[in-house]
Amino acid sequence: MSKHPAPPFEEPAKSIHIGTPAAAQSSKPPKTTPKTVTTIPSTPNRAISHPVILDTDRYSRQILFPGIGATGQQLLASAHVAIIGIGATGAATASLLARAGVGTLTLIDRDFVEPSNLQRQILFDEADARDSLPKAEAARRKIALFNSDVTVHSHIADLVPANIHELLAPAHLVLDATDNFETRYLLNDYCVQQSKPWIYAAAIGAYAATMNILPRRMQAGTENGEPATENYAPTACLACIFPKPPTGPVETCDTAGILSTAVNLAASIQTTEALKLLTNQPHLMRRTLLSHDLWSNERTEISTARPNPSCTVCGQRLFTHLAGEGRPHITLCGRNSVQIHEHHRPVDFAAMRNRLAPHADIHNLRFNDLLLRFQRGPHTFTLFPDGRALIQGTTDITLARSLYARFIGS
Ligand SMILES: [Zn+2]
Repeated sequence: MSKHPAPPFEEPAKSIHIGTPAAAQSSKPPKTTPKTVTTIPSTPNRAISHPVILDTDRYSRQILFPGIGATGQQLLASAHVAIIGIGATGAATASLLARAGVGTLTLIDRDFVEPSNLQRQILFDEADARDSLPKAEAARRKIALFNSDVTVHSHIADLVPANIHELLAPAHLVLDATDNFETRYLLNDYCVQQSKPWIYAAAIGAYAATMNILPRRMQAGTENGEPATENYAPTACLACIFPKPPTGPVETCDTAGILSTAVNLAASIQTTEALKLLTNQPHLMRRTLLSHDLWSNERTEISTARPNPSCTVCGQRLFTHLAGEGRPHITLCGRNSVQIHEHHRPVDFAAMRNRLAPHADIHNLRFNDLLLRFQRGPHTFTLFPDGRALIQGTTDITLARSLYARFIGS
C-alpha cells in the first residue's frame, strides 16, 4: 500500500482549491492541453528518482482500441470534465477518467470520508476514513499517485446556484454523481442554459441508471436565439422525462443498501459515454434512459431521443432551480447530519479554536487547513473554511441551527 501523503491533522495540504474558480474558457474542447493552470504537484521526489512514464506506454492499450486511437487520446488530454459528488459513483468515474488520460478534472464534493464508504468508494482508504479527509481532496491525492499528469481541481463545496457558474464554466462536460435530485435539477437547469452536455447516473441496491443529456446548442451570447451549428441532435433533458423532482421518501443507499457492482456499472457506462463525447463521437452516444438491475437481470430503456417541446426547462427555458437561493440548511442523505451554511465568509480556524477551547463541554477540538472538528455532547461539528458546517448526531434542522449559532457564530 502507498503511504498516505499527508495526515490532515498534522500536515496541511498546500494546493487545495476551496470555492476558487478556474479561469473561464470556451465550452468547446481546446486544441491544446491546458497544462498552464496546473496547481497540483505530483508526489514529492518521484520525478527525480523514477523515469518518466511516457504517454505512448501508459495509453498504448487504449490507443490500440479503434474507437479511441491516437487522435482520440490527444482529444482526451485536452478535455476538462467536472464531476459533481465524489462518493461511490464519482470516485469510480474520476478514477476511470484519470486513468484514461482526461487532462483536467474538476471534483466537487461537500462531505468527508467515513468507514462505511470503503465498501464501494474505490478511491479511498482506511487512512482517509480515520482522518475524515474531505472526499474531493482525498480523490485528488489518490489520482496524483497513479496519473500525475492529470490536472485536478478539488473543491470542498456544496454545488448551489451561487457557485455553479464559476465552478462549472471551464468544463466541457459535467458528470452527475450526486445522491440527490435537488442538485440534479440545478445541474439540468445550468447545463441546458449553457448548452453544456451532462450525464445523469444513479445507483441504489443492485440497480444502476444513466442518461445522456445533450442540450440544444445556442449561439454564444444569445440565450434565446437561434440554435447554433451543432455536431449532435439534442436529446431530452432531465425535466423532459421527469418534469418535477420526486416527492416523498426516496430510497437511498442508507435505506436500500447498495452493491458496489451497481455503482461500478453506472460509472462504467457513464464514463464510456463521456469518452465518446470527448473524442467527438456524440453520434455513438446512447439516446435512452437506461436502467439495469444486476440482481434481477432486468434491463429497461426509455427513449430520450427527442426533447419534449413543452418542457419548462429546455422548451420554455425557465430555470427555476438556477434562480433559487441555494440551500443553506439540509439534512444529509441518511447520515444523521445536518448541513448549515448561514454565512458565506472565510473562517479563521486558529481564532475559532481559541474561542472554543475554554468551553468545558467541548472535546476533541482539532483543525488543519481543510476542516475544524470538535465534539459537544452527542454532536460532532465539522466546520469547513467557507463557513459551512456539518453537524452529526441530529436530523433536526432547528437544533442544528441553534448549535451552529451558539458555538460557531451567528
Ligand atoms: Zn427538457
